[in-house]
Amino acid sequence: MTNGNSNGQGAPRRRVLVIEDEPDIARGLRDALEFEQFDVSTSSHGREGIKVLRERGADLVILDLMLPDINGFTVCEEIRQSHPVVPIIMLTARSQETDKIRGLEVGADDYVTKPFSIGELIARINAIFRRLYRSVSDDAIQIGQATIFPRRHELVRNRKTVTLSFYEVEILRLLHERAGEPVSREEILEKIWGVSGYGSSRSVDNFVVKLRKKIEVDASSPRHIVTIYGTGYKLLA
Ligand code: CA
Repeated sequence: MTNGNSNGQGAPRRRVLVIEDEPDIARGLRDALEFEQFDVSTSSHGREGIKVLRERGADLVILDLMLPDINGFTVCEEIRQSHPVVPIIMLTARSQETDKIRGLEVGADDYVTKPFSIGELIARINAIFRRLYRSVSDDAIQIGQATIFPRRHELVRNRKTVTLSFYEVEILRLLHERAGEPVSREEILEKIWGVSGYGSSRSVDNFVVKLRKKIEVDASSPRHIVTIYGTGYKLLA
């Protein structure tokens, strides 16, 4: 991998926290991330990871689902309370599909299934940072009764404020840029996850389910994020 992240000279190094108890994986991730100029902290236990995040902070968290003390879901929920926006990538074993869906509900942003390619994971992390730190308009986006404030990662509807995760904001932004046009799952994956042919279109669907609950009056018959059968989605603001 090349230095695909945009850590310019003199810019503060981006901090990645790896919470993973398998020493080989933790070491491999540390080496690869340090090679990419990230500032890396590692924890082998969930509680310790939460503590490290509170004390040192992080710009992104890689979180293993199966940890020796508490499971990754619990860690994820606790992190979300103190750090509602930090991107969290969860590492899961193959075929933990229901775990993935549960993880999305507790606030993980993305999944990587073990065994995974470190190169692909790094590419995904770089894509997240490119999107997080590019300069974007903070104009509010109006969708139906919901007002979205992209930079604050907030959505206000019926005077209630809801936090949006990194990928939720990115998907909304992309659909909004192309409002009224169908956008395919593959295009969403390529533009937001940053790696073509990587990731599962199911993850796009899972994010849309969550977004509909936040935006639609009746999430079971959506009027704003509409499914285009066999293709993807279309936003009707
Ligand atoms: Ca583990």
